[in-house]
Amino acid sequence: MSLPTIQGLTLLNPSNQPARLRQKRGTYFVQTWGCQMNEEDSEQMGLYLEQMGFEKAQSLQEAQIVLLNTCSVRKKPEDKAFSMLGALERMKEKHPDKVIGVCGCMAQLRAKEIRQRAPLVDFVLGTGNLAELPALVDEALTAGKFRSRIELPERKGSVVTDLPSRAVGRTPKLKAYVPIQYGCDKFCTFCIVPTTRGRERSRPTEEILAEVRELAAGGTKEITLLGQTVNSYGKNLAEGKVPFSELLKLVAEVPGIERIRYTSPYPRDFKADVIQAHRDIPEVMEHVHMPLQAGSNSELKRMRRLYTIESFKEIVAELRATVPGITITTDIIVGFPDETEEEFQATLQAVRDIRFDGAFMFAYSPRPGTPASDWENQIPANVKNSRLNELIELQNTITEEINQTYVGQELEVLIEGTSNKNPDTLQGFTREFKMVHFKGGADRYGRIAKVKINEGHRWGFRGELV
Ligand code: SF4
Repeated sequence: MSLPTIQGLTLLNPSNQPARLRQKRGTYFVQTWGCQMNEEDSEQMGLYLEQMGFEKAQSLQEAQIVLLNTCSVRKKPEDKAFSMLGALERMKEKHPDKVIGVCGCMAQLRAKEIRQRAPLVDFVLGTGNLAELPALVDEALTAGKFRSRIELPERKGSVVTDLPSRAVGRTPKLKAYVPIQYGCDKFCTFCIVPTTRGRERSRPTEEILAEVRELAAGGTKEITLLGQTVNSYGKNLAEGKVPFSELLKLVAEVPGIERIRYTSPYPRDFKADVIQAHRDIPEVMEHVHMPLQAGSNSELKRMRRLYTIESFKEIVAELRATVPGITITTDIIVGFPDETEEEFQATLQAVRDIRFDGAFMFAYSPRPGTPASDWENQIPANVKNSRLNELIELQNTITEEINQTYVGQELEVLIEGTSNKNPDTLQGFTREFKMVHFKGGADRYGRIAKVKINEGHRWGFRGELV
C-alpha cells in the first residue's frame, strides 16, 4: 500500500530517514502515557534510537528495546505502567536480551520503587536527561547493569541550555508539536509537574525558530507550541525577554507555516498582547485552551491558582470581543479536597456562564508529594464520580448546542487523513479546532479546504467540500 504524500514527503511514516544512513541494530517500541509533552519526548526518544540504528517495531512484544514513557498526573497511568512492567518482566525472563527502560514523570519520581518492583528493568531515565538515552541503551546492551539518570537540569537562569537539537531528522508531518518551555514555577497544590519536570525554563527563540523552519521545509503546516504555562515563555533569555506574543509573530513569519496553536496558557499571564495576536496574526488559530480547574474563588485559592473566577471570565469576554468566533476549551477538576456542594455548584454555574466549546474533565486524583494529597478532607470516590458525571453531562449538552449553531457555515479545514471508522471519509480540524468529517479523495491530504457544515455533534461536525 502506498502512503499519502505531501510536497513529496510521505506522511504517517515512522521514519523518513534514508535507510543507507542507518545500520540496522534491532527494533524499538515506545509506549507513551500522558500529555503532549510526553508524546513529544517519545518522538525524540525514537529519533535517538533511529540514529543509533534501531527501527520502530509494530508492537512491544517484538521490540528489542522497550521504553515506557510514563505519566504521574493521575494514579491510573501509573498503575497501567506498573502492570505493563510486570508483563515485560515475564517477557524478559524468556528473552534476556530485551532492554526495558522506564522514562518520564514516574521514572523521575519513583525510580527506587521501580527498581524494587521490577528488578529486570535496565534503566530509568528522568524528564531532564533525554540526551542520555543512547548511552543508557548502549550500557544496557553491553554491561546489563541497572542505571538511573534522574537529575533535573539546574535552573541556569530559567533558560534551557542543555537540550539536544530537536530540529535535526524529525519525521516530516503536517502538524507538529514544538516545546518552547519546560517545567513550571506555579506550584498548584494538586500538581506534581514542578517536581517531575523542574522549574520553568524557556528555550532560546532562535532554537525554536530553527526547528520550525526545518519542520516547515519538510511540509509541516500547523505548529502547536508547548509549555506547562506556555504564555509565560521568554523570561531570562540571553537575548533578553521575548514576550510570548512576539514568539507567535516570529513563528508566523516562517514561510510555509499556515496555522499556529499553543497549549496550555496560564490564566493570570494571559495578557492583552496575546489576545491581540489572535486578532492580528492570521496564522494564529481562533482557539484557546485555557484551564479553569474550578469555578469558585475559595476552591481556586486552595488549589493555589493565581486568578479568580471573575478575572478568568474577563479574559474570556475580551477574547470573544476581540476575536469573534474564537472557541474556548478548558480543563476542570471535581472533587478536590474539601470541595463543598456549594463549590461544586459554582463550578457548574461557571460552565453554564462561560459555555466552553469543550472540556477535559477529571475527578481529583491525589498525587503523593503534592500538598493537597495530605489534606484530611478527601472527597469520597462515589461523590467525586457523581459530580464528574454531572459535569460531563452539562458540558456535553453545551458542546452539542454550540456545534449545532455552526450548521450552514463554511469553515476552513486542514485535511489530515481518513476517518478511522470510514476509510472513504476525510477528516481534519477547523481553525476553531473542531473536528470535521466529509467525503473526498485521498489526493486532498495535506490541503486546506473549505467545508460546509451540515451537522453539529458533540464530537464535531459532518460536512461537505465546497
Ligand atoms: S500551572 Fe499548576 S497545574 Fe499547570 S503545570 Fe504548573 S503547577 Fe501544574
